Amino acid sequence: MELQAQPIRGRFAPTPSGWIHLGNARTALLSWLHVRSLGGTYILRMEDIDMTRARSQLAQGIMEDLRWIGLEWDEGPDVGGPYGPYTQSQRLERFQSALEILQEQDLLYPCFCSRADIVAAAHAPHGLSGEGPAYSGACRNLSSQDVVAKAQHKLPSLRFKVPQNPDAVISFHDQVAGHVTFGAAEGGDFIVKRADGMFSYQLAVVVDDADMYMTDVLRGYDLLDSTPRQLLLYQALGLQSPRFAHVPLVLGPDGRRLAKRHGGVALRAMRRQGITPEAVIGWLAYFSGLLDSPEPVKAVDLIDDFHLDKLPKEPVILTKQCLMRLSALQR
Ligand code: GLU
Repeated sequence: MELQAQPIRGRFAPTPSGWIHLGNARTALLSWLHVRSLGGTYILRMEDIDMTRARSQLAQGIMEDLRWIGLEWDEGPDVGGPYGPYTQSQRLERFQSALEILQEQDLLYPCFCSRADIVAAAHAPHGLSGEGPAYSGACRNLSSQDVVAKAQHKLPSLRFKVPQNPDAVISFHDQVAGHVTFGAAEGGDFIVKRADGMFSYQLAVVVDDADMYMTDVLRGYDLLDSTPRQLLLYQALGLQSPRFAHVPLVLGPDGRRLAKRHGGVALRAMRRQGITPEAVIGWLAYFSGLLDSPEPVKAVDLIDDFHLDKLPKEPVILTKQCLMRLSALQR
């Protein structure tokens, strides 16, 4: 079915590697408001595939914190739904099937490079963010004898072959960032299965968003440059890609992404200090351009006036004064 004709479905997909803080709570709020304002179905999915980082008690805590600020979901790990399971670690066979579809098309190859090899061979200092430097393609043309010989000493990761034509571009319309274009080969061939056997975020997120019929993916701007990779996977797997909206990040006064180091930003800590969920939502809405001042408000009361056009186009910097006012609330 054409994307336009599909019922609206959107999600928040946290990785349970830390408590919810103001930065990711804001992404959750905006994705929730977007879906609710369009009368769609909202889904919570736990992206706990990276078992070294994910922890199950954190997943539980994330759900408590989201409910505390008034966000609820129609489908999710605890409430179920027609396209579950909604916890990535329970969906490994789905990722394996997708991997096989890619393998059948000869779109994957084993890579024996270590992280150090990749950094040393990088053409450019940085590839697409979060994924390290662009991969040079060193293992792309190994002979089958080389593969057999190398495999005796080391387990390979599996990489996806991105189009090598230097002029190939991937363009898409982002509902917040506007028209976006990346060079297809910019980030190099990327990993879909790691040497330790774990599927990569890129593969898992595409399979899950498609399996769960997502029409609208709203997430942080830091994932904008993962999108071309995901679009290549959607295409190779013959799947319908969703609409994307990448919202500018919330930064601390030092210009770095809001995190624990900025102090007092975990929802859990705020709740313990007696701050109300309405106060938290008021602040999140204020620094998302939805309110003129950080007045306490319920999430549900923001639905009617919500529109993606209201969101800032630049990162939001929480000033020291802002953080001080927030911490004063907690006393
Ligand atoms: N699990 C990812 C994260 O917590 C988000 C993935 C996505 O929204 O595509 O950063």
